[in-house]
Amino acid sequence: MSFTSFHFHAKISAAINDSGYTSPTPIQQKAIPPLLEGRDLLGLAQTGTGKTAAFVLPMLQRLMDGPRKKVRALIVAPTRELAEQIHDYINKLAGHTGLASAVVYGGVGKQGQIDKIRRGAEIIVACPGRLLDHLDAKAFRLDKIEMLVLDEADHMFDKGFLPAIRRILKYVPQQRQTLIFSATMPAEIRRLAETILREPVTVQIDHDLPAPTISHVLFQVEQQSKTALLKRIMEQTDMVSTLVFTRTKHKAKSLAQQLEKFGYSVTSLQGNLSQQKRQQALDGFKSGEFKILVATDIAARGIDVSRISHVVNYDMPDTAETYTHRTGRTGRACRSGEALTFAGREDMQMVTLIERNLGKKMARQAFTALPGDTLEAAESRPMRQRPAARSSQRPSSQPARRKSTGNAGAARQGAKPRSRAVPFDFDVRSLSPTSGRKERRTNAG
Ligand code: AMP
Repeated sequence: MSFTSFHFHAKISAAINDSGYTSPTPIQQKAIPPLLEGRDLLGLAQTGTGKTAAFVLPMLQRLMDGPRKKVRALIVAPTRELAEQIHDYINKLAGHTGLASAVVYGGVGKQGQIDKIRRGAEIIVACPGRLLDHLDAKAFRLDKIEMLVLDEADHMFDKGFLPAIRRILKYVPQQRQTLIFSATMPAEIRRLAETILREPVTVQIDHDLPAPTISHVLFQVEQQSKTALLKRIMEQTDMVSTLVFTRTKHKAKSLAQQLEKFGYSVTSLQGNLSQQKRQQALDGFKSGEFKILVATDIAARGIDVSRISHVVNYDMPDTAETYTHRTGRTGRACRSGEALTFAGREDMQMVTLIERNLGKKMARQAFTALPGDTLEAAESRPMRQRPAARSSQRPSSQPARRKSTGNAGAARQGAKPRSRAVPFDFDVRSLSPTSGRKERRTNAG
């Protein structure tokens, strides 16, 4: 199937060509035809499936006809990052059309947002709270809305936005086309869909199945050895762009700081950052300035970076679906990716659930650090108390550290190689034999 079968306006087709998209993704194939007919839609699809273009392209087609400089389409999204991403995406696809999008979210000035809309935007991409502030203050109206999209509806529910959504619905006309996208379908979202969608088409894209291009590896490791394991993997693996998930904001920050000390270009994304800092972190990760982004699930939701080579579950996700969301960030658009999961004994129940969802077992890698010789413990010890050469402490049953392994990541980033060896007994080169990984020559030992 090709995009030509949708008969988009020439100016939209030109943008599709500019994007380099050769054929529509499965959700685009299924969703675009009914959306072009004006049907309501319930889309069960996660980030990474191409769902944004699935609603943006028919939206632009609709807006090509009819009045300009009036707000005729509204997209509501749960996070500022997702709103920005959708806005950027619209700008890209609407580049030749003269249609404009404005973005609305909290944490930044209100007047700039109002001015942009009053100057004449046809599309608003908004987070619920700030949008309601504007609407309640009568800063602008939504009475000409023809198309409403609720994106990541399950996440909006998680964040407690459903009452706000219901209030926003009172500001938009009853007569409209409505789309709901959700990766999962909690009862509350199903009820919302039943009440606001009219005879919707339902499109489901393997929403609980991870992309087939991802390889899944499980490292059995105790909590206190996780950082040492991560460091070792990074030393031995070509990780173009790595997204690391931690359970808490605090851990995201402290792990990023620790990786930075090792010499890696790393940033973190957690709820405590100002909007400007968050955007800087995201932009830096997207541009490749930062090779590693450490984030919590909430902070990373909806991140659209197309070239993530590795997703590391430093902490186990809480549900099998969260595993799918996290790992869906790699292996996108038919590229291969690797999902590396660190699991302690207490995590094995979740591993079983994830593997049931995957329909297969993850490849297992054992990892052993010497008792009491974790990186965390070593890092917090004063320098003079650190043993000069750990290799002398290695039990005879443990294989010698490979000569070629060293702090290659640090060397690559121009940092001083560390002079301390940390003994482990696994070989991550078996992770992806076809990825053309370089042999590391730097010797930190
Ligand atoms: P989304 O699920 O909307 O977050 O999109 C995931 C990624 O797929 C984005 O980086 C899009 O630019 C990309 N994408 C969307 N549609 C296509 C397509 N038809 N062909 C290739 N890549 C696409």
